[in-house]
Amino acid sequence: MSSLSPVQIPSRLPLLLTHEGVLLPGSTMRTSVDSARNLQLVRSRLLKGTSLQSTILGVIPNTPDPASDAQDLPPLHRIGTAALAVQVVGSNWPKPHYTLLITGLCRFQIVQVIKEKPYPVAKVEQLDWLEEFPNTSKTREELGELSEQFYKYAVQILDAVSLEERFKMTIPLLVRQIEGLKLLQKTRKHKQDDDKRVIAIRPIRRITHIPGTLEDEDEDEDNDDIVMLEKKIRTSSMPDQAHKVCVKEIKRLKKMPQSMPEYALTRNYLELMVELPWNKSTTDRLDIRAARILLDNDHYAMEKLKKRVLEYLAVRQLKNNLKGPILCFVGPPGVGKTSVGRSVAKTLGREFHRIALGGVCDQSDIRGHRRTYVGSMPGRIINGLKTVGVNNPVFLLDEVDKLGKSLQGDPAAALLEVLDPEQNHNFTDHYLNVAFDLSQVLFIATANTTATIPPALLDRMEIIQVPGYTQEEKIEIAHRHLIPKQLEQHGLTPQQIQIPQVTTLDIITRYTREAGVRSLDRKLGAICRAVAVKVAEGQHREARLDRPDVAEGEGYREHIVEDTKPESINDTTDLALPPEMPILIDFHALKDILGPPMYEMEVSERLSQPGVAIGLAWTPLGGEIMFVEASRMDGEGQLTLTGQLGDVMKESAHLAISWLRSNAKKYHLTNASGSFDLLENTDIHLHFPAGAVTKDGPSAGVTIATCLASLFSGRLVCSDVAMTGEITLRGLVLPVGGIKDKVLAAHRAGLKRVIIPQRNEKDLEEIPGNVRQDLSFVTATCLDEVLNAAFDGGFTVSTRPGLLNSKL
Ligand code: ADP
Repeated sequence: MSSLSPVQIPSRLPLLLTHEGVLLPGSTMRTSVDSARNLQLVRSRLLKGTSLQSTILGVIPNTPDPASDAQDLPPLHRIGTAALAVQVVGSNWPKPHYTLLITGLCRFQIVQVIKEKPYPVAKVEQLDWLEEFPNTSKTREELGELSEQFYKYAVQILDAVSLEERFKMTIPLLVRQIEGLKLLQKTRKHKQDDDKRVIAIRPIRRITHIPGTLEDEDEDEDNDDIVMLEKKIRTSSMPDQAHKVCVKEIKRLKKMPQSMPEYALTRNYLELMVELPWNKSTTDRLDIRAARILLDNDHYAMEKLKKRVLEYLAVRQLKNNLKGPILCFVGPPGVGKTSVGRSVAKTLGREFHRIALGGVCDQSDIRGHRRTYVGSMPGRIINGLKTVGVNNPVFLLDEVDKLGKSLQGDPAAALLEVLDPEQNHNFTDHYLNVAFDLSQVLFIATANTTATIPPALLDRMEIIQVPGYTQEEKIEIAHRHLIPKQLEQHGLTPQQIQIPQVTTLDIITRYTREAGVRSLDRKLGAICRAVAVKVAEGQHREARLDRPDVAEGEGYREHIVEDTKPESINDTTDLALPPEMPILIDFHALKDILGPPMYEMEVSERLSQPGVAIGLAWTPLGGEIMFVEASRMDGEGQLTLTGQLGDVMKESAHLAISWLRSNAKKYHLTNASGSFDLLENTDIHLHFPAGAVTKDGPSAGVTIATCLASLFSGRLVCSDVAMTGEITLRGLVLPVGGIKDKVLAAHRAGLKRVIIPQRNEKDLEEIPGNVRQDLSFVTATCLDEVLNAAFDGGFTVSTRPGLLNSKL
């Protein structure tokens, strides 16, 4: 039999499960590939190594069942069509997906599924041969494209292996098509008489529908839409070049059958072109005094940032142009960077749009996909302009430090073009393929750290650091801004809920540990939700009664407020009812709503044995306290380091050990068997417990040395001391960065004493007075001084630590 056949299919086929129609032998169809299973198949069979043509797939019609677990292979239809993949086009946006053009070769039957994962492969038996078919592939193509209601029928045709059976099944369909065709021709003639202008070539698929149905009305609408579109292009104020392109495209569109994938593509393109704000802008209104008031009203503290933003706006007002560096706000999450960006837009009376760049690693995210690509679309800049509808918005480029890089080009390079005032009046998005003038857009960037911002971008920007908040600032921000906003969002009034400042402080210290106010805001939201439920249920009175401490002594009585008019209260003074009382959020309520506190006792508990010390680390998310732990065991002098740490920290660990070994006698440090050779028969394990981010840098040096000194001396480090500083081999303490954030972190954690390098003393000026009051600072020039300050009663009696603050 095989000598007869032009195609002999392999005995094993990878199976492609499609739910977009039934592929019949001899017909061609497009199918989109987005399920994990099919993606795997395409990647490993079609996109790797061998040429496309050599792979034959088994295409199995499959009705998607939303109830079934996507992990499991659904029950497979027994008969399928072996197919050649003729073309694969892919896109990565908004998620990976391919479109396959496949041509059916012949039927096959599944004998046995050999493999299910990552995509199914089956042993198959070939059922027929392409040559047996007369050349009627066009008809089959139409059948293959039949809409969903014919799906079942098409599957039956697929199953009809014998020719006779197949004819029986297809004849009624063909008859129906012919009927439809006749009717359509009749109506079309009418229409042509009425309106000679509107003619579009109908795709064959459409004639399967009876005229007068919804489908037909759609077509009319389509045509009307095209006329409208043409009118919009004529009247649009787009630049000449863009206009020319549109005119050309609409001419093409009018000649195109609607079934062509390109039809929709071109139409979407034109719709975007007429919608873009080529010439539409808002009028800037800038009054520096008003801007200052608005910034102050919206934001508590952050004086440095507000001042710089006002200067920027003032210069703009005087110079009346936008050229100049792009402002980039750098600081931990939740310190108000986005919020200030929004205020800038508000003061200028401009539209605001945020473009998240976190994780963007493909330049087409910025610059768009070329239009030849299936699923192509413009980049985020053009999309943003479409969303705001004006050409002079404020664009907040969020998280420029989290741009990635990939094979699809460097998004930072694309962004540079967007930001460069010399180039951006001529920005060409790949999708639009004509230039759009971005020179009126005001860009503001935000980042958590400058370390990972591509240098070329960093060069274009003026960095403004936004540090974390102190506890007091957080309390003010909560009461002035966050709580009122949350109440409004939850439909609550201050008459219904009261959150005293002590409660806010409890939330800040016991339920959050952050530099900004984002978690604080979320916790307040949770409280409001819980109270909203109580208020809605009208239960809060009973809740108060349940709590004897609140209910008693306040003369609380049941009452009916709703119907009580003020006059009637006056009339019956002795029956006067207390005004409706707000729900008071105290610590009991807090525990009830938020659960037990998350950050308590931790510090003193963890410092209850030798070999633990608290360091201060700087991370892009703000300052953090960091517990360094050490233990020793029998061994051969090995040092093991674990936790999230970088190379510089490893070096600090080696330095600290060397310094302690050379000073063992002086401090009476011994190993387990009493020898001054600390590493003799001893292994050391140092651990830096994981935080949210990997830490690196030399500033853990003093902490490691202190932790090891505690381990080898058997003495506890004071539980309220934190420290930071780089060390040298000779035991000197060198200055480090991020002092303000680190000190704030120590303060947040409730520590009392902070050891810093002597040469960082000047940095203490930046620290708010109230924080400085709560803490005592020790400045050290050498490790001796650090150890003396870290252990109660000092470590040696030889040196006294330098005292800055009398509280020590
Ligand atoms: P970021 O962009 O720095 O991550 P956001 O601007 O999203 O932070 O701020 C988080 C929330 O905290 C917002 O609701 C913001 O209004 C509020 N917020 C932050 N700082 C302040 C401040 N100084 N005054 C008032 N609200 C603030």
